[in-house]
Amino acid sequence: MDYKQYITVVEDWPKEGVRFKDITTLMDNGPAYKSAVDEIVAYAQDKKIDLVVGPEARGFIVGCPVSYALEIGFAPVRKEGKLPREVVKVDYGLEYGKNVLTIHKDSIKPGQRVLITDDLLATGGTIEATIKLVEELGGIVVGCAFLIELTYLNGRDKLDGYDVLTLMEY
Ligand code: 5GP
Repeated sequence: MDYKQYITVVEDWPKEGVRFKDITTLMDNGPAYKSAVDEIVAYAQDKKIDLVVGPEARGFIVGCPVSYALEIGFAPVRKEGKLPREVVKVDYGLEYGKNVLTIHKDSIKPGQRVLITDDLLATGGTIEATIKLVEELGGIVVGCAFLIELTYLNGRDKLDGYDVLTLMEY
């Protein structure tokens, strides 16, 4: 499917010079959203995945339906102060700003095979931080799946050695 027809490119948002890829217009379209999720499920099917992990908030939009389809769990990665129990945390820089990401300490058991999902790969900072959290807890990252990759930001350089799926490139 040509998913790009469902993405709205918003000029100068959230700041001047950024061409934001709005995925809500893809989510609005049931068959397109389902097809994108199905492609990620098919990619994950033979990887013996135990758990899906995704950063807030759009990583949930991609990851939760995948975990539902695979009948496995989903562990949320959230900004500092949002998760109620003991967490591990990591600092990261993203396309516009700095942040801290956290995950519940007991959400991954050592040796569990993890698929990481997010809507978009830009500089790779968010996904690199998410990988660090998973690996700190002993998880094995067996795949990273995104709807969109901004190839000109070279996020893949940070994912050297990891298996990566993206459904659209800009
Ligand atoms: P990175 O950390 O790879 O530089 O940035 C990726 C993160 O920023 C993702 O979590 C993604 O949700 C968000 N992001 C950055 N640019 C865009 C964009 O143009 N569209 C969307 N939907 N998300 C973006």
